[in-house]
Amino acid sequence: MPRPGRPHLPMRPLWRCRGCGVEWPCQPAKLSLLSEYQGNRTGLIIYLAQQMVEARDQLHQLNPDKMPDLTERFLAWARPRG
Ligand SMILES: [Zn+2]
Repeated sequence: MPRPGRPHLPMRPLWRCRGCGVEWPCQPAKLSLLSEYQGNRTGLIIYLAQQMVEARDQLHQLNPDKMPDLTERFLAWARPRG
């Protein structure tokens, strides 16, 4: 499988994608996580929840006036449907 030139990984503490610069997880990151955790949706949710806790701490430190709500961004897309 070809490896992408720029991995779609979070750039801390801004939590933007190293590959495409949008808020992480970007679309390619979601796709690769879905294939990585295929058949293990619980594992994916746990991983994302850990990332979300870390992101919330770091983003909160950057911007103490605001407590970011990251549930939609990190978790909503990964919930099993139906
Ligand atoms: Zn990306």
